[in-house]
Amino acid sequence: MNTPKAFNGEYVDLVIVGGGMVGLMLAAALRHSGLHIVMIERAEYQPVLSMGLDARVSAIVQGNVNILKSVGVWQYLQDKAGLMTSMRIWDGQEQGGIRFEGAEIGEDKLGVLVENISLIHALQDTLKESPDVELLCPEAVESVVWKRDRVEVALASGRVLYTPLIVGADGGRSWLREQADIDVFSRDYQQKGIVATVKPRFAHQGTAMQRFLNTGPLALLPMADDLCSIVWSAADERADELLALSDDDFMYELNLEVGGVFGGIVEVGERAAFPLKGQLSRHIVRPRLALIGDAAHSIHPLAGLGVNLGLRDAMVLAQEIVEARKFDEDWGDMDVLTRYMKLRMPDVLMTMASMEALHRTFKSQLPAWIKLRGFGMKALGNAGIVKQLLMKNSTGINLPVPHTIE
Ligand SMILES: Cc1cc2nc3c(=O)[nH]c(=O)nc-3n(C[C@H](O)[C@H](O)[C@H](O)COP(=O)(O)OP(=O)(O)OC[C@H]3O[C@@H](n4cnc5c(N)ncnc54)[C@H](O)[C@@H]3O)c2cc1C
Repeated sequence: MNTPKAFNGEYVDLVIVGGGMVGLMLAAALRHSGLHIVMIERAEYQPVLSMGLDARVSAIVQGNVNILKSVGVWQYLQDKAGLMTSMRIWDGQEQGGIRFEGAEIGEDKLGVLVENISLIHALQDTLKESPDVELLCPEAVESVVWKRDRVEVALASGRVLYTPLIVGADGGRSWLREQADIDVFSRDYQQKGIVATVKPRFAHQGTAMQRFLNTGPLALLPMADDLCSIVWSAADERADELLALSDDDFMYELNLEVGGVFGGIVEVGERAAFPLKGQLSRHIVRPRLALIGDAAHSIHPLAGLGVNLGLRDAMVLAQEIVEARKFDEDWGDMDVLTRYMKLRMPDVLMTMASMEALHRTFKSQLPAWIKLRGFGMKALGNAGIVKQLLMKNSTGINLPVPHTIE
């Protein structure tokens, strides 16, 4: 590729705005590519602590654990990951439910549970020995100007960069997306997700529990040291009530809903809450701009797939940038970026549609619908091949691992 025409600034091959899990993943995937990458993160990395753990936790499905392994991140993470060997889903309104075991699809686990801050640290550790990746934190972008052959980026520190491609990995309220004047299709669930670390009476044995209550889904996710992380999605008003309760009263309410799972909850850590929104950017690429992760799409956390989609965006974009470079193409050009978009859209749209369908299915309180739902779950539990296919899709193990980038 011809380097863009010089202007009074410093040339870099790629600028990434946002150093969350997804932005860092892109940098990690490209760290041996020889590209000079500048990543800009505006906030200091701060955990939200609950019983000594970051209250923000992500379930990483097995397909993405494989990706983390291929990129060399897993070695820094494995000691901190809680293993999820099985999952039980049941309807708060109906008896019975459905159980998924890793062994049903030939895997020893369905995925892992990690604190977001641990994944961030593991990705940073992976980047430590990479002189080509500059992580600027805290740093802010003051202005960004798109030209035909480059993007000009002025930083708050006074540095001025120009690059063929800028990537927005700056989350659901992406500043970069706004600068590019791209709007979003948005769905406000009018719910908040309450997260906290809790201690159950008995060992969780690697089982994740998801219960669909009439107020929203409640997940108990197995963490290291026999702790669990909860994600309790509730309508705004109910969530605010729950947040205002004392620890003891909150634990009482929680125990009413967990239905005696793991012998009940005996200790709860600090709570944090996040408004729940579904969102899809109207464009995820523009000339010299690509959006990844929540900047491109965010989904209801009821199946814990948001960052999983983002990690796959990062890997596929990295792969397309490396391919473009190999064939002397301009990786900020729409031909290259369209390839990234086309590869990612089916996965993103299918996941978003499934989340919406699940949300609607479990929201309805009509008695006939509740019966039908119970019947559907039982049928799925007995439908060997269909169940396996569903499990393979949702754990991402049937998706190709984008090739390792060396
Ligand atoms: C309650 C809850 C539970 C969840 N559980 C799961 C789960 O189990 N599994 C799962 O896969 N997903 C889960 N998710 C979704 C997951 O958290 C998100 O998909 C994920 O955080 C997206 O990562 P990201 O890096 O794209 O964005 P973010 O995590 O939002 O990171 C964006 C980064 O960009 C930085 N930034 C923002 N603006 C700027 C700027 N102008 N300049 C520089 N930097 C900037 C921010 O400081 C931040 O570090 C959950 C979400 C919620 C709310």
